[in-house]
Amino acid sequence: MMASEYPPFHQFILSSLSNHVEERPNDFAFLSAENEFESKTFKEIQAAIYSVAGYFQKSGCKKGEIVTITLPNTWYYIPCYMGAASAGMVTNETEYQLSNSQSKVVLTTANNLNKIIQASKNLPHLKIILYIGKLPSNIAETSLQIVNFDEIISKQYPFNPELIHFNVEEDLLALPYSSGTTGMPKGVMITHYNFMVQISILAMHHITKIDTVFPPDENAVAGYKIHFLPSYHAYGFAGLCINILRGSSTIIMKHFKPHLFLSLVEKYKVAQLNLVPMLLNYLSESPDVEKYDLSSIRFISSGGAPLSTFQIERVKKRFPSLKYVFQGYGMTELTTISHGAVFDEPMPNEAIGKCLPQIEDKIVNPETGKECNPGERGELWVKGPTVMKGYWMNEKATAETITPDGYVKTGDIASKDSNGFLFIHDRIKELIKVKAFQVPPAELEHLLLSHSKVSDVAVVGIPNSEFGEVPRAFVVPKQSNTISEQELINFVKEKVSKYKQLRGGVEFVSQIPRTASGKILRRKIKEDYLKKTKLS
Ligand code: AMP
Repeated sequence: MMASEYPPFHQFILSSLSNHVEERPNDFAFLSAENEFESKTFKEIQAAIYSVAGYFQKSGCKKGEIVTITLPNTWYYIPCYMGAASAGMVTNETEYQLSNSQSKVVLTTANNLNKIIQASKNLPHLKIILYIGKLPSNIAETSLQIVNFDEIISKQYPFNPELIHFNVEEDLLALPYSSGTTGMPKGVMITHYNFMVQISILAMHHITKIDTVFPPDENAVAGYKIHFLPSYHAYGFAGLCINILRGSSTIIMKHFKPHLFLSLVEKYKVAQLNLVPMLLNYLSESPDVEKYDLSSIRFISSGGAPLSTFQIERVKKRFPSLKYVFQGYGMTELTTISHGAVFDEPMPNEAIGKCLPQIEDKIVNPETGKECNPGERGELWVKGPTVMKGYWMNEKATAETITPDGYVKTGDIASKDSNGFLFIHDRIKELIKVKAFQVPPAELEHLLLSHSKVSDVAVVGIPNSEFGEVPRAFVVPKQSNTISEQELINFVKEKVSKYKQLRGGVEFVSQIPRTASGKILRRKIKEDYLKKTKLS
């Protein structure tokens, strides 16, 4: 299919919503896990998207302008995202991005309003703050428009799609942030075409094949799905969209809470789960599992971090009803997922799977630039219609990441066998993976260096049984003994998301090892730390 034949992504979602509305207008699209009385039907979601799009249009928002959503997981995400996309706008998340992306609109919770008004002094592009919840009485003075998002939804603003013309290959749908292989987070420009192809591939590979190989029962077709992965992360967002396309009812959890999760699986007879590896471990090991009837589980997807054959076998053993565990490999720069398990041929142990349709890959020796032979390790390069358009306002990083012939250099060390099965061995990049979240060490280092008592710092990920990895800071203080570990942990805690906190602690050192060109030798720091902790 030619790029120009694809519709913009929101149109695809809206036309699927129209079908659900026609067939079962009063079925739930969303249910809140924490408050099951809070629910929205497909019809309500469809109306909300149009009203939000109409509001953006009426407010003079233009194609390509940025909307930042900084919310916990909630159904509001979809009307805002798809309403913005309908008006030609581009969505991203969290506050660093408010400034870097030159966001015009932000959607947040009422209790975050004053913080954003405060920050807006340094955000010249920000014009509108949308909020959910009750307006606080002590709201700071501002010239920005402050609008209640529920009022926008209920006003049913008329929207005229004819006024906006899309070029699906060029126009952006989303601007998620990723550190890529190095450095500070960068906006990843995802076009409507990128996402349309990604979803079509997933629909073909993941959904049609699942249904062919494992004929669905009633629950597996649409049924209830639990959504707790962050809506802004590629994996979480793709899952959310697939639920809407399939007409599943999505139970939205603000945060993962084990007992609530298990009780929801039992109550709603959930057949398919989108998980991260740590949660497969939880399901395999936890005694909590015995307290619930989880015999509805038939299919588990895992992504975002490595999952071993051992982990897969262990969870299968515990859940006899579980037919298949699908592992996917991907990265934000590749829209979501480029490789996945195959259903119809046996996979070698520890393989991720193969390239999904329309995707090409090769393993390249990072030193020589030559393609590796089967079995040889090198950097994984991936090419295809899901490769991002580039990094937002960062041509240098784009040129360093995408080769002239269109391959993304993933920064992952991998190998392929002679049958094309992919094995991921390690990351050459230095991101810390806390559960499935990326924590860029450079961001935390940057922050710690802004502390008046810190002279130099390196942050590395250390292994942790609960989170996979957690950040640990190695700090050279300006004057010895004038600063405590706790002081720095609190300093970081106040300024970053929960998963970025220094759960690995702080260690005071006299020097940070660096290469001649000034790059921190993170691998050495980590190895030294691990040696030391093993010995002690
Ligand atoms: P993100 O951009 O947050 O999706 O992170 C992408 C990175 O996560 C990849 O470059 C890999 O290092 C890692 N990753 C994702 N999926 C897997 C997987 N199935 N196995 C191993 N590493 C993975």
